[in-house]
Amino acid sequence: MRNPLDDFGCLVFDDRAMRERLPRETYKALQRTIREGKRIDPSIAGIVANAMKDWAIEKGVTHYTHWFQPMTGITAEKHDSFLSPDADGDIIMKFSGKELIQGEPDASSFPSGGLRATFEARGYTAWDPTSYAFIKEGTLCIPTAFCSYDGQALDMKTPLLRSMDSLNRQALRVLRLLGDTETERVITTTGAEQEYFLLDKEIYKKRRDLVFCGRTLFGAKPAKGQELEDHYFGAIRPRVQAFMRELNHELWKLGVLAKTEHNETSPSQHELAPIYTTTNIAVDHNQLTMEMMKKVAEKHDLVCLLHEKPFAWVNGSGKHNNWSLSTDKGENLLDPGDNPAENMRFLLFLAAIIAAVDEYQDLLRISVASAGNDHRLGGYEAPPAIVSIYLGSELTAILEALECGSPCNPAVRQMQMLAETLPAFAKDTTDRNRTSPFAFTGNKFEFRMPGASASVAMPNIVLNTIVAEKLSQFADRLEKEEDVEAALPTLICETVKAHRRILFNGNNYSEEWVQEAARRGLLNLATTVDALPYLLAPKNIALFEKQQVFSEDEVRSRYEILLENYKKTLHIEALTMLEMAKTQILPAASCFAGQVADNVARKRAVCPVACKAEEALIVRLSELTDALSDRIAALEQALSDVSRAEADALAAALSYRDKVKPAMEALRAVADEIEPLVAKDAWPFPTYSDLLFSV
Ligand code: ADP
Ligand code: MG
Repeated sequence: MRNPLDDFGCLVFDDRAMRERLPRETYKALQRTIREGKRIDPSIAGIVANAMKDWAIEKGVTHYTHWFQPMTGITAEKHDSFLSPDADGDIIMKFSGKELIQGEPDASSFPSGGLRATFEARGYTAWDPTSYAFIKEGTLCIPTAFCSYDGQALDMKTPLLRSMDSLNRQALRVLRLLGDTETERVITTTGAEQEYFLLDKEIYKKRRDLVFCGRTLFGAKPAKGQELEDHYFGAIRPRVQAFMRELNHELWKLGVLAKTEHNETSPSQHELAPIYTTTNIAVDHNQLTMEMMKKVAEKHDLVCLLHEKPFAWVNGSGKHNNWSLSTDKGENLLDPGDNPAENMRFLLFLAAIIAAVDEYQDLLRISVASAGNDHRLGGYEAPPAIVSIYLGSELTAILEALECGSPCNPAVRQMQMLAETLPAFAKDTTDRNRTSPFAFTGNKFEFRMPGASASVAMPNIVLNTIVAEKLSQFADRLEKEEDVEAALPTLICETVKAHRRILFNGNNYSEEWVQEAARRGLLNLATTVDALPYLLAPKNIALFEKQQVFSEDEVRSRYEILLENYKKTLHIEALTMLEMAKTQILPAASCFAGQVADNVARKRAVCPVACKAEEALIVRLSELTDALSDRIAALEQALSDVSRAEADALAAALSYRDKVKPAMEALRAVADEIEPLVAKDAWPFPTYSDLLFSV
């Protein structure tokens, strides 16, 4: 039998393909760009382009595309063929260095948040040589960044690459101060665990809310949900197994290191985890994973839902962002290690992260903010909207011991002694807290707030930038010290002491934590609209500018886009609800009550029976349909109020949250009361039981 791994990376113009096909010098120059982040020499681009084209044509490819990640959360591509007339007018297959390096899609329809008026709608895509080109659906895809005419970022990749550069610069400064002369580059690594639901396609198609919004807007609580915990890690059913097998194979061909797969907590919910890699590539790979999940599901007559909260009453889907720092020599800077000298370095980086997360809680919250994720955070087994850090008891004890010890000399010895206990801690994985939004898990942090449908670019941009900022402050301070080694314990102690409030090892799902967090002065930004204004806080704009990740204009444009997205999402959901309520639920309930009334009449025509049950049902259904009709009117009113008062984007978003959303919830509540009263055959679309147990 053929080994599936024989195909691994066969659709990727990766290191192996480059080594085989590029002249030695070109290969080396390209490697320098990839490994060291050096700018590409345009003279080699033509050679690379030609080799890429020949490689692709051998695999039956005729088209190429600049593959990019605009602010829609998904990827975009526009295909061009390699066909080109030569000097004699013959048609040949050609791909030039210029075409590889730069493209110009007609960019007017991508969100720009006011950065680009439509009359000057030029946008450029620029090759990112650090992420390999690949073949998807018979097209050569070149990963690219997407910018406006004057170089402003219109995408996710540009700021991500900038944040990785910034972190590299600052981490290197710190490492040099610690006496490291070897490391030439520090990268961040990411492993994004992806949760998703699988539904039967035929059943899915019968629900307009799923088709239009990716989540259910109605649905009474089913008799069985996730109470028995019988789905989590349960045996995978054959239809799902076939889907997973094909998905893995497709992803492996694309070089995506899909590794673990299992059933998640909710019925129909599953998870895929890849092996971590450089953050830039991990983000690209996560986009590809989401796209492939949808495509492969189709082939199996399934639908893959990536929404963060497709169903009430059961868990939503997240995307745990595992994140760490690594040197080009392969050392993980968040590995506690077994010798005290290394541990000092570890504790310093840890302190930087603690301070960064505390000072920029708002940005981390914003990095996961969306209308969809608002439904998930703080609900069923999802972290709350309050950002805090879990370190585990041993590590916390070490930091606490450091804090109370007097700074300076005695602390050095004390820390060295304490650090000797670290190896035991490093290997102990029993001490785990699954409720924390930001948990230390042995040699990396797991950020659990990101929602399933969003790109992981933004969480990583924020993490990289805030940690870069803290490291730069550390470096500034240590550069002034005569004896850096002696100054470290004091710096670490002071930092941890100043940011103690962000550390919490208890149950983040509990009500007590919400109160405790408020006492500690931690932010609790429950909704997207609460969170977004913080993006424009002067300290945040200053941070992004100082670390050269976003200009002020770029920050403001993202703010506009995020608000706009929030409003549009709620608007579409409200309209979908109205359509379903008016054309499906109300008629179904009314017809069914009529049928019951007919039955009563027919029964009474035979003999004088009481028909108490039927009469009570008719009365109740009539009350509820009246209520439904009132709530339809109320939602319509709320929508028209918002549309008349649209002038200010934030005010409009607030009205959606405070007027439209409650009206939607009220409408759903009545509909969900009607559903169990109506005969199964008379209900106009599949119920939760049909949906959750469809595969
Ligand atoms: P769990 O489901 O318990 O959180 P898994 O082992 O399923 O843990 O997933 C852990 C994820 O963390 C994987 O995607 C793995 O590749 C990733 N990971 C492991 N080490 C690192 C690291 N140094 N940097 C980033 N991600 C990492
Ligand atoms: Mg996890």
